[in-house]
Amino acid sequence: MNDTVRVDCPLCPRAVSGREELRFHLQVDHRKSAVVNEYVDRLDRSPPATP
Ligand SMILES: [Zn+2]
Repeated sequence: MNDTVRVDCPLCPRAVSGREELRFHLQVDHRKSAVVNEYVDRLDRSPPATP
């Protein structure tokens, strides 16, 4: 099964596949390591928003 989670970057229109890629993208492209951990941690706690 495909368990890849598509996550939209909160800072730009880009979408990445997976929280780890989002974490990497934020840290590298936005240099927001401080807020990244909190944001990704929040994603982990909340259920996936599937419309
Ligand atoms: Zn971004």
